[in-house]
Amino acid sequence: MVTFYRRLPKFDYIQPKTLAETLNLLANSNNGKYRVYAGGTDLIPKLKRRAVVQPEVLVDLKGIPNLDYVDYDDQDGLRIGALATIRSVATSPVVSEKLPILSQAAGSIAFIQVQNRGTIAGNICNAVPSADSAPAISPGPPRARRSAGAGQGPPTEIMLACRRRRSILGGFD
Ligand SMILES: Cc1cc2nc3c(=O)[nH]c(=O)nc-3n(C[C@H](O)[C@H](O)[C@H](O)COP(=O)(O)OP(=O)(O)OC[C@H]3O[C@@H](n4cnc5c(N)ncnc54)[C@H](O)[C@@H]3O)c2cc1C
Repeated sequence: MVTFYRRLPKFDYIQPKTLAETLNLLANSNNGKYRVYAGGTDLIPKLKRRAVVQPEVLVDLKGIPNLDYVDYDDQDGLRIGALATIRSVATSPVVSEKLPILSQAAGSIAFIQVQNRGTIAGNICNAVPSADSAPAISPGPPRARRSAGAGQGPPTEIMLACRRRRSILGGFD
């Protein structure tokens, strides 16, 4: 039987205003006390279902300016910020040109409302095998690597975000 909880569990909420503040906060926590989130489309329902370990503090990344970029240059390749929505990636001309498999994957996620709220970083960091964007940016498919630019591999920013989370929680769930 699936138990349905109407209320979220209790937690504190922080919305840092800078990346430095956020990183400082997270650097001092390696016991799962803090959990970052972006769109909340995965995390909030899971918290309601008690499907994840309850954090003491939710750290809302949405207060940090300029993290919603989708950029490309020849040196760094494709860079996708932690707050870039699924929709902005799906409709980005540069993603469509450099990594079309990611455009298609992002465009296939759920529907417009979820795409407008959820982020590509959240889709990856959620770390479920069904994440539609994961195959597109994994280092595995040679087609994706080639499309991203010679030897560029996956978008670094997303990987950094996930590593950070790993260091906070001690592993993916
Ligand atoms: C109705 C519905 C339909 C959906 N359909 C699909 C679908 O078809 N395909 C699909 O792939 N997904 C689907 N999803 C899942 C979801 O929308 C995506 O996984 C979304 O991309 C998550 O992004 P978010 O910003 O909302 O993540 P959040 O919910 O904010 O976070 C998800 C997880 O990632 C972590 N996290 C988020 N950002 C960061 C960061 N920058 N650094 C470290 N950790 C981070 C959070 O701690 C949390 O554990 C669906 C969801 C809903 C509600």
